[in-house]
Amino acid sequence: MTQLAVFGGQPIRTEKYPQWPVFDDRDIEAVTNTIKSGRWGGFPYPGQNTAMFAERFAEMQGGGYAVPMMNGTITMEVALRAADIGWGDEVIVPAYTFQATAYAPMVVGACPVIVDISPDNYCIDPQRVEEAITSKTKAIIVVHIANQMTDMDAIMEIAKKHGLVVIEDSAHAHGARWRGMGSGTIGDFGSFSLQSAKILTTGEGGVLLCKDEKMAERAASIIDCGRPKDADGKNYTMGVNYRWSEIHAALGLAALERFPEQMQERESNADYLEESLSEIEGISLLKRDLRHTRRSFYRYIINIDPDYFNCEHQVFCYALSKEGIPVDTGYPAMNRYDLFQPQLSKLPVPSAFPEYFDFETMSLPVTERASQVEAVWMGESIFRASKQGVDDLVAGINKLAQNRGQLSKLAENRQRMLDQHGIVDLDRLAEF
Ligand SMILES: *Cc1c(COP(=O)(O)O)cnc(C)c1O
Repeated sequence: MTQLAVFGGQPIRTEKYPQWPVFDDRDIEAVTNTIKSGRWGGFPYPGQNTAMFAERFAEMQGGGYAVPMMNGTITMEVALRAADIGWGDEVIVPAYTFQATAYAPMVVGACPVIVDISPDNYCIDPQRVEEAITSKTKAIIVVHIANQMTDMDAIMEIAKKHGLVVIEDSAHAHGARWRGMGSGTIGDFGSFSLQSAKILTTGEGGVLLCKDEKMAERAASIIDCGRPKDADGKNYTMGVNYRWSEIHAALGLAALERFPEQMQERESNADYLEESLSEIEGISLLKRDLRHTRRSFYRYIINIDPDYFNCEHQVFCYALSKEGIPVDTGYPAMNRYDLFQPQLSKLPVPSAFPEYFDFETMSLPVTERASQVEAVWMGESIFRASKQGVDDLVAGINKLAQNRGQLSKLAENRQRMLDQHGIVDLDRLAEF
């Protein structure tokens, strides 16, 4: 028996996985040129870099009118405003996502209706969506999570039947394709984040892809203090300044040049990973839907069998991280975010409509199990570290499997710590 690194053993990998973001001379040159041009900001909107980025981004995704702005949260807010969705309207969102997905409806005064995900792909479950529709429902926000895409065929059929707006939160899905169609181009709107962790990044930034040109004009107006963007210059909107800067757009143009190659590298390493993982006991992969014709890898989710490993995902991820492999437990269920607790949130929507935030009565079994027990999220850098990076991950999991007795010791310590203190301090777990 070997010692797990968490108990002082030799870790499987000592070399760091490659850092993100990456850059080269193109970024430095593009930013330098923009600084020298004197045109740093986003006014008048769009500037030259921003307009060029918008065109190339839409081309890469394969459709739509791209409106770049400050980040991938306001993109969804702006989409809702452009579609006239507001106070008291209902917007259906998945329970397993970053909080921004549900913040966006709340900030325009709409109520997020939180529904469960599918166990196949951890994206919103179309059947749960259908059950949640009422006369107040105006939109569905789907999230293409980690390495997966939502069943867009089912979602678009439901939306058509009930006359609903569809927003694809594609913050994880740059470059992904569903039956050849780009993520974010299938629904009415696609929302992309360019925040520093995302696979296409400019530090901060967001892109709203609009299917309809008129919607793109409205969105561009909303983010530019309401200035009209139609050809006649007549359509003013109620807007604020959410413009993107030309310096960020300069970084975006360089990032777009590198993106196809990075995407290909992650794809081929992910194929290799799936081959390797298929032989490991105690691990299961999410389903591979063949309609998802091109996959992106912001994160990769696997499930562990807690009975096999003698622990739940928190202990598993901690022990594997100590072996030098970057993994984490992913998102909490929506009901765990303070932002959505009527008593804690200072936003008007949870106070005005507390019934939408009564988490005790919500049934979210798939999300609860993923977020508390079995989902393990791998970082994208694992897919940029050649086959060795994947082999190390697999070796790390095998080491944990062979030393499950040590994991059960950690799990016992964790339980004792919880019972005595009500919280888990992972760094004290080994000696507790
Ligand atoms: C990152 C992310 C966002 C928000 O993007 P920002 O640019 O950070 O505002 C929204 N939704 C999901 C699913 C994300 O991962």
